[in-house]
Amino acid sequence: MSNKKFKTEVSQLLKLIIHSLYSHKEIFLRELVSNASDALDKLKYLTITDDEYKKLDFNPRIDITFDDEKKKILTIADSGIGMNEEDLDKNLGTIARSGTQSFLSQLTGDAKKDSNLIGQFGVGFYSCFMIADKVEVISRKAGEDKAWMWTSDGESSYSIKESERETFGTTIKLYLNEEGEEYANRWQLEQLVKKYSDHIAFPIFLEYDQKSYEGEGDDKKEVIEHKVEQINNASAIWKRSKSELTDEDYNEFYKTIGHDSEEPLHYIHTKAEGTQEYTTLFYIPKKAPFDMFQADFKPGVKLYVSRVFITDDEKELMPVYLRFLRGVIDSEDLPLNVSREILQQNRIMTNIRSSSVKKVLSELKGLAENNADKYLDFIKQYNRPLKEGLYSDYANRESLMELVRFKTTDSEDGYTSLADYVERMPEDQKGIYYITGDNEDTLRNSPLLEAYKKKGWEILIMDDEIDEIVVPTLGKYKEKDFKAVNKSSSDEDLKTDVDKKKEEELKPVLDKIKEILGDKVKDVVASSRLSDSPSCIVTDDNDPTAQMQQMLKAMGQGDMADIKPILEVNPDHEIVTKLQNTEDKVVLEDVSFLLLEQAMIAEGMMVKKPAEFVKRLNRVLGKSL
Ligand code: ADP
Repeated sequence: MSNKKFKTEVSQLLKLIIHSLYSHKEIFLRELVSNASDALDKLKYLTITDDEYKKLDFNPRIDITFDDEKKKILTIADSGIGMNEEDLDKNLGTIARSGTQSFLSQLTGDAKKDSNLIGQFGVGFYSCFMIADKVEVISRKAGEDKAWMWTSDGESSYSIKESERETFGTTIKLYLNEEGEEYANRWQLEQLVKKYSDHIAFPIFLEYDQKSYEGEGDDKKEVIEHKVEQINNASAIWKRSKSELTDEDYNEFYKTIGHDSEEPLHYIHTKAEGTQEYTTLFYIPKKAPFDMFQADFKPGVKLYVSRVFITDDEKELMPVYLRFLRGVIDSEDLPLNVSREILQQNRIMTNIRSSSVKKVLSELKGLAENNADKYLDFIKQYNRPLKEGLYSDYANRESLMELVRFKTTDSEDGYTSLADYVERMPEDQKGIYYITGDNEDTLRNSPLLEAYKKKGWEILIMDDEIDEIVVPTLGKYKEKDFKAVNKSSSDEDLKTDVDKKKEEELKPVLDKIKEILGDKVKDVVASSRLSDSPSCIVTDDNDPTAQMQQMLKAMGQGDMADIKPILEVNPDHEIVTKLQNTEDKVVLEDVSFLLLEQAMIAEGMMVKKPAEFVKRLNRVLGKSL
């Protein structure tokens, strides 16, 4: 017998689960049944592919029994792969996946939301301590003789000792606490299994005693009949025809495989017949999975071959940018013992994958056309992964261009499609203008946009850090070039002959400013894009923008010397016209610096030497009074 302490993160998690999920405790059953089903899937696969296991007498099932006497007990048993001593220690004493800290930080205190996170994170087993004050896991691994019992009160430690179990599989014995007593009840259990686990591909049996009465009057006596009844549907829902299934059927199955208590936003069920036979059932969750932006995200699509579960841990079944999808791919053509390496190069799998992507994208297009509200909900959660697709899925770039949405200067909170944007473009507008940066408000108020706004030209507001990487790779949409307004050349589009003349006149003062600012700027030029502000900064066409530089720095590639901005000044602004005529060297120097520094501040950047900036500002203010 060995006594062990839980790893710290497990103890922490146990406490949190018990407290935060208190009002949503019924999910323990969904989690345990889902673990049992996984264990059956694993063994089923081995009995088909591995000679060692072919001789096993495998009768896949899950059995739920309860004892409603004084100390109420609930047991859930499966005839699956089972665990040996080492497995028990590893699986039920630690949390294998990294990112525990990020999980903990995402708990909100809202039981319903948190219960979804818990399922997704895969700490499902521990949820049983919400309803039990002691749990025994008696397990025997398929192919081994010894059985082991893991016991814990869910406080801080657990023990493992040798035990007995007639055949392989796992029995979870829950000693219900006061909160959990209600689950030692036939109706409750039936209802919960229907709700969460109806389409688990294995039969779930409930054992119970049925009381009835025989005879009349004094002869009347109670008869107790012991019954074992299958309480779930146990059919692979994706194999059934669409016409047989209701929205409710689809939604309930989603809750099981998506570990979500909310309904999905959308589902896509496809049966392919002909040269290749396969079925896919994909779901889009209402809320993006919590780990969508973590490198170790858990993939949500499971691979089956002829209804035999193969893997749920293959990140490349679908392209990474569609990692928010939940669901199933079931192929009739792949070999059962398909390995990960084979999977990645397999022609059959490649075909399934590429037609599935096309299907999902065309379904999204339909949604955008026919159900704008729902599509907006989709965009709010998944616009960013779609943009990743623009970058990574060249083959589907055209469809993705139609699907992504952007914020624009013409909409305060809504989004526009590129198609609508181009539709609205006035005739003299030269390209699709966009501005990138990390703060929407700063971007909307940027001096860079003044002249465009005046002309009635709309600008896409790109405040998502990925925009910076994606948009420059897009090139054109419907023959129109994408143009960054914070790059020097986009100014050309706005220039008139009058502007060119003014530029000439301004040359002497521009040269002076340039001399004063020295190596702080790449150039000082007259601007056509400003109307109210005296100055702005832009990046040379060939240089990365300020935001891009910050990002490269964050990615550890920031050793390139700081790229210098180009300072543009507004020829019509009072400050600039007056500056042309000043002889005062100090004023000229102060104002030159202030033109640069205020332009940086307006773009949300820091000035390099704030103390000097303040001194200059005060000198100028002092003189103006
Ligand atoms: P998850 O199922 O998301 O991995 P859990 O905390 O629910 O997280 O379970 C931890 C691990 O314990 C599982 O990954 C599995 O290896 C093992 N396990 C749990 N229940 C069973 C079971 N009934 N039979 C076999 N292994 C199990």
